[in-house]
Amino acid sequence: MPIDTVLEDRRVLDLRYRMPISQIIKFFEGLEEGKVRGTRCKECGRKYFPPQTECSTCMTKNTEWFDFEGDASLETFTTVEVAPTSFVNEGSYVVAIGLLKEGVRILSWLNIQDRSSIKIGMKMKLKAVKRKEGYYSYEFFSI
Ligand SMILES: [Zn+2]
Repeated sequence: MPIDTVLEDRRVLDLRYRMPISQIIKFFEGLEEGKVRGTRCKECGRKYFPPQTECSTCMTKNTEWFDFEGDASLETFTTVEVAPTSFVNEGSYVVAIGLLKEGVRILSWLNIQDRSSIKIGMKMKLKAVKRKEGYYSYEFFSI
């Protein structure tokens, strides 16, 4: 089948937003320090990621911060070939849901060289990453 003529148009999205982060600033400080942090309710023990400083089960602010050790197993994944506008310059990438040993599921990019080696249940490590100056995030890495 002949390939039709294709027009490719790429534009940079200028994404700006403002949100109050005073209650979760420790999460962003943790990323800069190389740590991924969640919160835990001191009353019922429920853990939260993304972190929240109020437990929606107990309706209390009696929560505390903790650092994830990062040990996780892969529950599911997908490869994104057509990225949303904000990631259009990243090429294709793998998004995974990992179950951390702390019992929390996290959705994140999976940084892996050989995508054919991805297996459900494989061990991964969640790590804080610096994508560029001033832009920190977190990703799973195959181990
Ligand atoms: Zn609670």
